[in-house]
Amino acid sequence: MKVITIDGPAGSGKSTVAQALSRRLGIPYLSTGLLYRALALAALRAKLKPESSQGLLDFLAQLRLRLTPTDDRSGFVIWLDDRPCTERDMKTPEVSQSSSEFSVLPEVRAKLLDLQRSAARPAGVIVDGRDTGSVVFPQADLKVYLKADAGERARRRARELGLPETDAATLAEIEARDSRDSHRSAAPLVVPAGATVIDSTDRTVEQVVDDLLQLLA
Ligand code: C5P
Repeated sequence: MKVITIDGPAGSGKSTVAQALSRRLGIPYLSTGLLYRALALAALRAKLKPESSQGLLDFLAQLRLRLTPTDDRSGFVIWLDDRPCTERDMKTPEVSQSSSEFSVLPEVRAKLLDLQRSAARPAGVIVDGRDTGSVVFPQADLKVYLKADAGERARRRARELGLPETDAATLAEIEARDSRDSHRSAAPLVVPAGATVIDSTDRTVEQVVDDLLQLLA
């Protein structure tokens, strides 16, 4: 059972690299960011604000979030209240910002810990996120930290969203999330102990995946 963690800031290429590696190795892939996004989506629907500590514990206690393997076992379906979450719902700018705000809260992080760990059984897992090598799977077989210039990351994200590459709001959003993810006290974005750092700014997905395959060889 192999566990591979890929952490790094928004737009560093984590999910593209993780999915390509998952296909090459036949190990299921889980984006842990999607779990934070699904939780944020539920919170937005419940009109809960990250600062309203009063309602948070009740919300978390009632939250019904679970994972099942996809039919081809290449990844996972995220279920919220017995309905599958679509990437479309979870990738909106509103959910991006809200997931980053909720992920600061230790209670939110604790709630998602077991769910993330359960994904490794029985077939192993390739995960990407912010704390997967430092907190979720500190004993992973391979830990990677992927980084890239903020400008390049904003260009990639803008392309993904179908916006002009120089979209200033996308760069501002990326920088705000970087700052929040890196400066929070609960499980901040760090290079995990024992991780290999790869800069993807001028490298293709294939080149990064080849690097990772060599590290595993
Ligand atoms: O990876 P993605 O951009 O989809 O993650 C959305 C948000 O979830 C991030 O900005 C981050 O605040 C939070 N997150 C986290 N820890 C993880 C994965 C995501 O705090 N392991």
